[in-house]
Amino acid sequence: MKRRTWEADFTQVDYPRLVQGGVDGGFWTLFVSQGPRTPAGHAAARDNALKIAVRIREMVARNSEFFELATRAEDAQRIAQSGKQVVYLSMENGYPIGHDLTLLQTFYDLGVRMLGPVHFANNDLADSATDTKGPEHHGLSDLGKQVVAECNRLGIVLDASHASDDVLRQLLELSATPLILSHSGCKAVYAHARNIDDDLLRALAAKGGVIQMNAFSAYVAPLKIDTDRNQALQALMAKFGGRSALTTPEKYADYVRARAGIERQFPMPLASFDQFMEHVLHALKVAGPDHVGFSGDFDGGGGVEGLMDVTTMPRITERILSAGYSPEDVEKFWSGNMLRVLRAAETQAHRAMEQRSGAPIR
Ligand SMILES: [Zn+2]
Repeated sequence: MKRRTWEADFTQVDYPRLVQGGVDGGFWTLFVSQGPRTPAGHAAARDNALKIAVRIREMVARNSEFFELATRAEDAQRIAQSGKQVVYLSMENGYPIGHDLTLLQTFYDLGVRMLGPVHFANNDLADSATDTKGPEHHGLSDLGKQVVAECNRLGIVLDASHASDDVLRQLLELSATPLILSHSGCKAVYAHARNIDDDLLRALAAKGGVIQMNAFSAYVAPLKIDTDRNQALQALMAKFGGRSALTTPEKYADYVRARAGIERQFPMPLASFDQFMEHVLHALKVAGPDHVGFSGDFDGGGGVEGLMDVTTMPRITERILSAGYSPEDVEKFWSGNMLRVLRAAETQAHRAMEQRSGAPIR
């Protein structure tokens, strides 16, 4: 399988690099950006998410000696020990659900085990941490609350990473199972809306949840916003219709050439590795080693200096060990904590099913 590099084509994840970085697997996300909140917009988002799910599943099926789909917490160890990549599915943004809660079952059946209700802008389910218009529902909408109950019923972990603080507070109250912040940071280190304060971090941990530290530079440290770069990248995306539209080698080469021009003209402002580690060590201090994990947000805009693709992940382990944490702690950061949260969602779903049927289910 082809090994790419960030320098050559601005990608951060592929099979050879996952292996080189000692990464056994992770969540592949069905990400659909927030669009118009209309019946047509919701239908298009639903179709898009279904297509992404099918595309990931086809990729796994075509490369079954390298990848395997995981749907339960217990799958991870078995698949990793067989030498394959563990592929869990998640959804970043609940927008594709529209107003049709039955779609949660559909996506669950396709393998989705984690859902973030909202992305960079408010939607019909919840308020975003970063919507410039401010809060709309002051947390979850009524529909969003029904999504929480349905996720608990099915065994889908709720992800409050892009959600507003009010949403996180309400999720902590409403969800029958622990939450995840799939890629977030600490407000105490950098007071950005995408990061959470120590009180919320403690509340998350008290309910058994996990924060996975984000390596997205603009949320790690205060950087000068390069509007020229952002505009150039937006124009590039508009021209090519996003990475998923790069369906031929020619289109891909054209995109890479155009992107390289932008990178030369307006280099990406990056936070430092030390600034990223400040978030990690702070979260560890406040929440404790049972409640912290990692996320690069790779191929999603992530990356800090010296941590630009999956091959660089061992740097984090090195730094954690030299900060005095044990190899057992390190194992929890990389997988144990997340799998515990997933297992809790499964157990709750199983228990709910038994209660409904009135008989033990094996
Ligand atoms: Zn994100």
